Amino acid sequence: MTDRAALEFRLNELLEPGRFKDYGPNGLQVEGRAEVRHLACGVTASLALIDAAIAAGADAILVHHGLFWRGQDGRVTGWMKQRLARLLSADISLFAYHLPLDAHPTLGNNAQLGARFGWLADRRFGEQDLGFSAAMAPTDLGALAARLREVLGRGVTAVPGDGRPLRRVAWCTGGAQGYFEAAIAAGADVFITGEISEPQAHYARETGVAFIAAGHHATERYGVQGLGDQVAQDLGLSWQFIDVDNPA
Ligand SMILES: [Zn+2]
Repeated sequence: MTDRAALEFRLNELLEPGRFKDYGPNGLQVEGRAEVRHLACGVTASLALIDAAIAAGADAILVHHGLFWRGQDGRVTGWMKQRLARLLSADISLFAYHLPLDAHPTLGNNAQLGARFGWLADRRFGEQDLGFSAAMAPTDLGALAARLREVLGRGVTAVPGDGRPLRRVAWCTGGAQGYFEAAIAAGADVFITGEISEPQAHYARETGVAFIAAGHHATERYGVQGLGDQVAQDLGLSWQFIDVDNPA
């Protein structure tokens, strides 16, 4: 058992959110009860996740995608009202860490995704060094896509480059298709992220560097589990990961 403030302190100590320029507030977003025994972790603070966490008897929820983002109009209506009402009436805290959780060198989304494939980053690239890159045993796009499908349990979108053997992989979880050009500049043979937009297929064909979109949700399931497990050990909590499937 611990208290909310100690949990927040430990999370901040591990992730150092002050080092990042982010799209929303990192840390405690909604304050619940002081005592914390059980922590529920998930990718996004959706109503389904909140309800499942309450049903599981959680005192706090830890997510990658919280409730508050730059550019929101600030009104507590519709889905925002529903989610906040549920959190507040259950007196359950919501902690959210966005870019600091992507970036953490061992616990984060990128590091934990890489670990599932045996990729240990020896280079970082892109804005705020969020992109990871590693050497790997040479492979081809078909084999790499098949491994991703198997580990992540979903289909992937793979755009071939020039067919060269893939010896250097670069990756950045979530909606990081905008990092493709930085990955190319950093010497990647293939770049993996969660989503694809229209331009990336052309860049792949024109630069020869292959591109794979493996799912925003699917690529971001692992950081919050690494972090949840770590703080649970540090503070003597029980914890669980709640997966709310998302086709995106
Ligand atoms: Zn994301």
